[in-house]
Order: sequence, then structure tokens, then C-alpha cells
Amino acid sequence: MYKVKEAFYTLQGEGAQAGRAAVFCRFSKCNLWTGREKDRATAVCNFCDTDFVGTDGQNGGAFETAEALATHIHSLWPDAPGAPYVVCTGGEPLLQLDEKLIGAFHQRGFEVGVETNGTLPAPAGIDWLCVSPKADAPVVVKACDELKLVYPQSKAMPERFSHINARHFFLSPMASPSAPDTGTDPIKQSNTRKATNYCLAHPRWRLTIQMHKIIGID
Ligand code: SF4
Repeated sequence: MYKVKEAFYTLQGEGAQAGRAAVFCRFSKCNLWTGREKDRATAVCNFCDTDFVGTDGQNGGAFETAEALATHIHSLWPDAPGAPYVVCTGGEPLLQLDEKLIGAFHQRGFEVGVETNGTLPAPAGIDWLCVSPKADAPVVVKACDELKLVYPQSKAMPERFSHINARHFFLSPMASPSAPDTGTDPIKQSNTRKATNYCLAHPRWRLTIQMHKIIGID
């Protein structure tokens, strides 16, 4: 059984794949927070701005088999030229994503991207792995396509991840969990300046901003 909060067709807004059309498949549940506000203060990860609880979002649901979920995701891809791309996110997608589902996506022509907090082993077959470490949660993934670090996090500063074998290193300025997505969040503006300065001083790292929020898409 796979539980999906929501699924939707959009453009990837961040990182090295920014601007690419993708079906986002947001799996329910995370291993670093329950998703309930009453638990936020004691969670390992406490700045999350994503609702990943339940299966009641747009195109969400519970799917008995990998085939059923892959067929559902495929139905959201347009009938047009272009390589189909699915981004498995969450929540923490590696609580649910397995080789069977990756295979079912591949059978339908999808490249499979994953956005994970890196605390769980990744199954074989993923085409694009993005690791986004959170707080002091131990990262077990040792190699990935991109490391995307929300910045600044006092327990997860960039130096801690220099041993990870990544093709791309990105800093993503942290927003306030409760701020509206208008681009006027003063905390995010301040963090963007800090991330910019870090990238200027450490050119291995690149700044990524949440393009989807600027242009007003999901
Ligand atoms: S690890 Fe990701 S999904 Fe989980 S609580 Fe943190 S930001 Fe949210």
C-alpha cells in the first residue's frame, strides 16, 4: 500500500532540474516530524512548511499496488513530446518508494527523481537523487546527484556534508514556516543574503531559490 498526500503536474522549482516539467508525487508521512503542529517544537526537523499528513490532497489517495500508483501518476502527464519525469517527494518518500514502484514508473517511460532527507537508504534505480539534510539527523546516503541544503541550520551547516559525493551543491534560503509565499518574508530575505554571502565565499556551493513560489505555481 502506497499513501500519497497529493500529486500534480508542474515545473520543478529548485536545483539543477529547475524549470523542468514534472509530476510531483508527494508521499504521506515523514520520519523527522509527525506533521502535527503540536509536535513541531520537539521534532527533529521543525521548520517544515509542507502538509504531508493523510491522503486528502489533490490527486492523493491510497494505492494498493505499484502498478496502480504508476498508472495514476502517468495519467497526470500530458500527451505531448518530452521525457516524462516524476519527482517523488514528501514527507519522506523513502519510507515508501521501493524498487517495484521505480520499475513501474520506468515501464511507463518515466525518469524517476527523488527528494529525500537522506536518513534512509535509497533503493536502486533512481535516476536523479536530491538529498536535503535536516538538523542533526544522520545522513546515510553517501552519493547523490544534488545536495540541497536549507540554509542556515545551526545543526546542519554546509561543512558537515563536504564528504558526500554530489554532482551539485546547493544552498536554499530558509523561510519562516508560517510566512505567506509572497517573497516578502523578512526572515527569508535575510537568509537569502546569508546564503548568497556563503556561496560567494565558498564557490563550490550555488544558490537556489524557489522559483515556483516567485512565479506563483505549486
Ligand atoms: S524532513 Fe522534509 S518533509 Fe520531513 S519535516 Fe523536514 S522538511 Fe518536512
